Amino acid sequence: MLNEYRVDLHLHTCLSPCADLTMVPSAFAEKLEEKNVDWIAITDHNTCRNVPVFSKVLRDHGIEVIAGMEVQTREEVHVLLYFESYEEAFDFETTIVMPHMKKTKLDPELHGYQLLVNEKDEFTELYSDWLGQPLDLSTEELVECAHEKGAVVVFAHIFRRFGVIHQLGIPPNTRCEAVEICSVSELEKAKTMFKGSPVISSSDAHFPDQIGSRNCVIKANTRKFREFKDALEKGRILIEWDCAH
Ligand SMILES: [Zn+2]
Ligand SMILES: [Zn+2]
Repeated sequence: MLNEYRVDLHLHTCLSPCADLTMVPSAFAEKLEEKNVDWIAITDHNTCRNVPVFSKVLRDHGIEVIAGMEVQTREEVHVLLYFESYEEAFDFETTIVMPHMKKTKLDPELHGYQLLVNEKDEFTELYSDWLGQPLDLSTEELVECAHEKGAVVVFAHIFRRFGVIHQLGIPPNTRCEAVEICSVSELEKAKTMFKGSPVISSSDAHFPDQIGSRNCVIKANTRKFREFKDALEKGRILIEWDCAH
């Protein structure tokens, strides 16, 4: 008998320039408990550096965290990457993302703040390279690198701004493990365009009230990364539309 886990696989912390400063560990714990979400992914723009602190705090609340990031490609496509461990995510960030990202100094007035945080919700560092930028890798090149490193690849909000279909018009010539949509009205079109890929939905929360507002249910034995991969491969992930907005 498999367990059912409620998952929100697209969440931004105070390290994403466009996310609210209140996206700190305690806000995640409170909102995720309220929504009975027990498995999440942290997916800041082009970085995973807040993952360890959030993982530690949320584990004390019984919530497991997948190390992820939302990478922006040369065509301004947002691609969600999920890794088996923080170490693997961090390795990808330092060896692939950072060397391919243009260096622009963050201007908080213009771009927003990018803050590393500790377990007590205290800001410890302002991350100084602006993270809201595209890499000089194409979508296909990024996906290939990510697969080489064992990551799970999901195209984010495919029909919305920065989504792969919105940006490119057609699906890229590359494999993905799933595609993400934002409303039930997008479901049939997504299934037709990405035949064989599971279609999922997540909150893409940038503010505390959005956390856990769109979820999926995964059927799995445990909340291990291998089980997450398996659930996508075998279609044991379903969108919970009744909590969508
Ligand atoms: Zn996005
Ligand atoms: Zn996002």
